[in-house]
Amino acid sequence: MDSINRRTVLTWIGTAAGAVASSSIAGAEPLAAQAKAPAIGRNLPDVTVLGAGAFGAWTALCLRERGAKVTLMDSYGAGNARQASGDETRQIRCAYGDREIYSRWALEAFDIWHRRQDEFKRRLIFANGVLSPNEPIEQYEAEKRIFTKLKIPFETLSAEECKKRWPQGGFEGDERALYEPKAGTVKARETLIAVTEVFVQKGGTYKIGMGSLGASAGGKMSNLKLQDGTKVDTGMAVFACGPWLPTALPNLLNNYIRRTRSEVFYVGSPAGDTSYTWERFPNMWHGGGGYSLSDVDYGYKVAPSGPGSLTIDPDTDERIVSPIMWEMARRFVAHRCPGLVNQPIVASRVCNLENSDNEHFIIDQHPELSNVWIAGGGSGHGFKMGPKTGEYIADRIVGIADPAEEKGLFALSAHKAIGGRPLVRG
Ligand SMILES: Cc1cc2nc3c(=O)[nH]c(=O)nc-3n(C[C@H](O)[C@H](O)[C@H](O)COP(=O)(O)OP(=O)(O)OC[C@H]3O[C@@H](n4cnc5c(N)ncnc54)[C@H](O)[C@@H]3O)c2cc1C
Repeated sequence: MDSINRRTVLTWIGTAAGAVASSSIAGAEPLAAQAKAPAIGRNLPDVTVLGAGAFGAWTALCLRERGAKVTLMDSYGAGNARQASGDETRQIRCAYGDREIYSRWALEAFDIWHRRQDEFKRRLIFANGVLSPNEPIEQYEAEKRIFTKLKIPFETLSAEECKKRWPQGGFEGDERALYEPKAGTVKARETLIAVTEVFVQKGGTYKIGMGSLGASAGGKMSNLKLQDGTKVDTGMAVFACGPWLPTALPNLLNNYIRRTRSEVFYVGSPAGDTSYTWERFPNMWHGGGGYSLSDVDYGYKVAPSGPGSLTIDPDTDERIVSPIMWEMARRFVAHRCPGLVNQPIVASRVCNLENSDNEHFIIDQHPELSNVWIAGGGSGHGFKMGPKTGEYIADRIVGIADPAEEKGLFALSAHKAIGGRPLVRG
């Protein structure tokens, strides 16, 4: 931890709480307005968060809520089409094989999503359930064990039971399917826009700009440098740059993130037909075969698994889908959603996956600059965790909590330069 110690944190939390209490006594503002703008805590450095994706936007909001003075800066803006978070939707579920820590985090994330949705007064989470047919047996057994332990609701369904429940689906050849009824879909870019708006309402500063490390002295960064050479003084920086982490911190993170293309397709339903909307049909997770998200408001989303993973330059590559993935999407639809065969693809996206070597997140302090933090390595599962990750990172930065298991797992030293093929995990 940087220069902030626990006592300092308690002091500034006390100061922030006191400021709210005294202005509430004075009756200067309605309570709701005070709740929107927490007081700036004394003794806490001002923080610049670089990157308004799932990691950065939530972190900025949570830091602001804890009393820090925060600037959120993004090269292209919250919810931009280049960022890994910038699609319409993402999946949220607790199934993680034997990686219990993420099942636990996802379970916590469900609650936070629902709470934030109420707070933001905006529909962001859709619990239509996720069906995972034919998972490898060890994975299925591990998930059953962890779900039972953590009291996560689930069912195991046969192909016949699935067909009875969702007659519009295709389940031929399925041995069994794990069904998570609380799981489903979250809005992606709309969430980031909402988080950024609320962050600003709560007193945060939001800017478009690309930052990099400026001068440093005595084991600390002294300032950030912007794309035009301008220097920005800041007490602390969080680099939450997703696929750009190796670009932003090349000496430290070169080869620590693999950046690959991932193509998704939105298939239209016949006019007036709600068979594959989220209210009536679950998401499907097929592991090696890809996955699908039922229609929330943009089309039935299909993300087929491709024959290989092509690298992508997040700044300069054009995002045009390939005929082979289009064909795979059609095959997927023919198998799982027979009612959508011959329906048009109404939208498509080329997304940028950003995998760490072992698919664990990277959340740590810079090894040489104690006031610089790194947050990313979402590895195909970072979006759902955003609200939880934001709280976790903010708590670590201000010294409220520092759980050992997570700290070890996410440490930079627990990662290495990349080899092997990335998996996409929803
Ligand atoms: C196709 C696909 C499907 C996925 N499916 C799921 C899913 O179902 N469930 C799930 O939980 N996760 C899923 N993920 C993963 C999840 O979307 C990502 O892990 C997560 O969105 C990454 O967020 P991030 O904030 O790290 O990065 P980003 O969203 O990429 O945000 C980084 C931001 O940093 C900005 N930036 C970069 N450099 C700088 C700089 N120097 N200065 C200022 N700003 C900078 C960029 O403009 C960008 O906006 C999926 C990912 C993909 C690609």
